[in-house]
Amino acid sequence: MHAPVTQDVHTIPRRLPEGGPVNLVGLTRDALRDALVGIGVSEKQAKMRVNQVWQWVYHWGVRDFDAMTNLAKGFRADLAEHFTIELPEVVSRQVSSDGTRKYLVRIAGGHEVETVYIPEEGRGTLCVSSQVGCTLTCSFCHTGTQRLVRNLTAGEIVGQVMLARDDLGEWPERGAANDPTGRLLSNIVLMGMGEPLYNFENVRDAMRIVMDGEGIALGRRRITLSTSGVVPEIVRTAEEIGCLLAVSFHATTDEVRDRLVPINKRWNIATLLDALREYPKATNSERITFEYVMLDGVNDSDADARRLVELLDGIPAKVNLIPFNEWPGAPYRRSSNNRIRAFATILMQAGYASPIRTPRGEDIMAACGQLKSATERARKSRAQIAAEAGL
Ligand code: SAH
Ligand code: SF4
Repeated sequence: MHAPVTQDVHTIPRRLPEGGPVNLVGLTRDALRDALVGIGVSEKQAKMRVNQVWQWVYHWGVRDFDAMTNLAKGFRADLAEHFTIELPEVVSRQVSSDGTRKYLVRIAGGHEVETVYIPEEGRGTLCVSSQVGCTLTCSFCHTGTQRLVRNLTAGEIVGQVMLARDDLGEWPERGAANDPTGRLLSNIVLMGMGEPLYNFENVRDAMRIVMDGEGIALGRRRITLSTSGVVPEIVRTAEEIGCLLAVSFHATTDEVRDRLVPINKRWNIATLLDALREYPKATNSERITFEYVMLDGVNDSDADARRLVELLDGIPAKVNLIPFNEWPGAPYRRSSNNRIRAFATILMQAGYASPIRTPRGEDIMAACGQLKSATERARKSRAQIAAEAGL
C-alpha cells in the first residue's frame, strides 16, 4: 500500500508545539524532523527540510530564519512563529595570560556553568560542561563541592560549542567548503563541570550533533569523554557515541580511590578495569587516557606508580598526570615537580606515555577541577570537605 499523498501545506499547523516556541538547537535529526512535520511539513519533504535547516544552524551558524535563503518566505515565517535558534547566554568571558578563555554561561532557570577554550599549538580544545555541579563528591574537585545540580539539555551542551565558535569567529564564510582542518576549535573534551555519564542521553545527542558531517563535523576521535567510572554507561559510550575515553583513575588501591573518587565504592578498580578492557575493542578506537591527579603524600609514591603499571597491563592506555590545582578550602596539596617527574619516569620505563598536564588558565580559575559556578552560594564548609575527604 502506498503512503497517502500529503501536501506540503505549512500554513495549516498540525501538532503545534506546546508552551511557546521550541528551540531547535539540540534537537536530533529525528526530533527536528518530528518538529517540522508537527508544523505541517509533508512526510515527503521532511528529509530535505531537515537537511536544509540543519545546515543553516550547524554548518553556517545562522540564528535568524530569514537568512535561510533557500527556504520559501512563507515557510521561514512559519519556522519563526514556532521555533527559535537560541544559545545559552554568555554572562562573562575571561581571558587568561596564556590565552585560555573561560566563559561563564547562563542556562535556563538562571543556573550557570563554565566552558573553557584552551588554545594549543596546531589545535584548540573546548572543555564542555555536562551538568550544573556534580552529584559525585570527589574530594579533590571543586565542582564536587557544589550542591546544586541539574543535567544540561542537549541544546545547552551543543550551545557551548556554538557560543565558543561565535566568540572565535569560526563559522565558515558563505561558499566555503566544510573543512574541519586548521580549525581554532578542533577538539572537545567533556571534562568541565559534571559527570557526563550521569547525563548520558543528552551528552550522546549533543555529541552526535557535533559529529554530524553536515554541520560542525568534528570527528569522533576529536572528542574525549571523561568519566569518574560509571561502569554501566562505559559500554554504551563505546556503542552509541564512539568517542575517545578518559577515566579519572587517581589511585591504585580501592582504599585510596574510595576516598578520592567515592563512586569507587559502587564500582571498584577491578570492575572498572574490566569495563575498560572492552572499550577499545567496542569502538575500534585508540588508547584510553588514565587521568591521575598528583596529590602530595596521598597517591604519588613510587609504589603507586608501580602498582599503576601492573593495573594497566593489557589495556591500551596512556596516563595523563595532572598536577593538583588548588581551590579555596581544598584539603590537598600538589605533589612537587620532582615527585611528579619520578612518577612519570616509572610509567615511561614501563612503556606508557605519561605526559604531565600543564595547568592552563589558572589565573582565571579555569584549570581542571577549579570550575564552579561563581554565583553558587550554598557552599560546603571546609569541615564538610575535610570530612568527605576522610581527613
Ligand atoms: N566528572 C568527570 C569529568 C570532569 S572532571 C570526571 O570526573 O572524569 C575533569 C578532570 O579533572 C577529572 O579527571 C578530574 O578528576 C580532574 N580534577 C578534578 N579536580 C581537580 C583538581 N583540583 N586538580 C586537578 N584535576 C582535577
Ligand atoms: Fe564530579 Fe568529576 Fe568532579 Fe568527581 S572529578 S566531583 S565526577 S566533576
